[in-house]
Amino acid sequence: MDFWIKYKVCFAIFARYCKQYNLEMETIDQIRADFPALQRKVYGKQLIYFDNAATSQKPLSVLTMQEMMSGEVNANIHRAVHKLSAEATDFYEKGREAVRSFINAPSRENIIFTSGATASLNLVASSFVYKHLGKGDKVLISEAEHHSNIVSWQLACERVGASLAVLPVDDRGEISLDKLEQMLNKNVKIVAITHISNVLGVINPIKEVVTIAHAKGIPVVVDGAQGVVHCAVDVQDLDCDCYAFSGHKIYAPTGTGILYGKKNFLEDLPPYMGGGDMVDTVTFEKTTYAELPLKFEAGTPNFAAAACYAPALEYAAQLRLNTEVQENERKQVAYLKRELDMIDGVRIYGMPEDLNKKIPLFSITVEGVHPTDLAQLLDTMGIAVRSGLMCAEPLIRKYSDNGMLRASLAPYNTMEEAEKFITGVKKGISILK
Ligand code: PLP
Repeated sequence: MDFWIKYKVCFAIFARYCKQYNLEMETIDQIRADFPALQRKVYGKQLIYFDNAATSQKPLSVLTMQEMMSGEVNANIHRAVHKLSAEATDFYEKGREAVRSFINAPSRENIIFTSGATASLNLVASSFVYKHLGKGDKVLISEAEHHSNIVSWQLACERVGASLAVLPVDDRGEISLDKLEQMLNKNVKIVAITHISNVLGVINPIKEVVTIAHAKGIPVVVDGAQGVVHCAVDVQDLDCDCYAFSGHKIYAPTGTGILYGKKNFLEDLPPYMGGGDMVDTVTFEKTTYAELPLKFEAGTPNFAAAACYAPALEYAAQLRLNTEVQENERKQVAYLKRELDMIDGVRIYGMPEDLNKKIPLFSITVEGVHPTDLAQLLDTMGIAVRSGLMCAEPLIRKYSDNGMLRASLAPYNTMEEAEKFITGVKKGISILK
């Protein structure tokens, strides 16, 4: 590495470590300064970004790493003998190690880089079907799944004549473990369930689900796209067979995803895609495959973005140690529940009795008001929320033909923003009704 590159790399790493050290003690206003997008105004109003369940904003440490990887350290990984390639490979593998450590996976072999939670779930479904699904078999999912954990399995099932079994959620947005136990009959070959639904924002008891399924010899795949953002995930403690998530929802760049899998589970699955880097030897007659994790990483991966897991997850880990952030989140959940409950015609979906099971994500309908109209009015006030079917059509249609409006908060969102959101909702309703 020449002097300037070395200097920039060291500076970025040094800046990151200084920042992390302080992050534990920083106020939310100080944390916000790390996110360029949060400094923006839209329509002349200060942006209030409440669409974090769709994607999070990115801190400077991640943006710096991304720029450096795409600029100075740009070379394809795992292939060439030259210096630049070795550096890029090193950063890529450091990204993998950051993920391993963040979710407490036993080894780098358990961590597969993908393009997102969707790609991770499709990988498992497509490979699992080859060996383990046949006519009449069932894949058990919950009623609250994102399309990526429904359609991926439907595609797999259609190939062999298998079908989905659907575990219902109750009116509070919770699953019943008794019902799960009843439904796990001999036809069920795998359970694919969300840790936290992107509509309900309720934390599912994944550890218990795994215990019940494993007692019957059934593996469990967890869609952790929202779970990994809001819960301290320890995959060894959960004991799940796979855990899938997206990097872009937890401060890493878009186009990054992870599939964690137990070694024996992943070794048993055939490769998902063929191409460069996933092979041992290739002849026209037969190909043998690389060891894990490369067996599932065909082709040039998004190495520039994957390297950013290191700063992204360091950032996330430090935020979890910040007591102001933690207290703020609990206050926001209690405040939004109380205030939304008091607005005439508003219904909240996903409200467990124990508020500790609820993340700061509120999906609502308002009697007589179309959610997209309200979302558009909020947008003019500078408040970014999501509306519609939220890629969970079966669940949403159970309650509402017009979809819902969702506000999803992140550690950098303030109480003042939550108050402005409530004022905005009230104002919007008074205009639209
Ligand atoms: N699962 C859940 C619960 C989600 O919220 C999302 C995205 O919103 C996904 C899966 C799919 O994630 P991605 O689009 O990043 O692949």
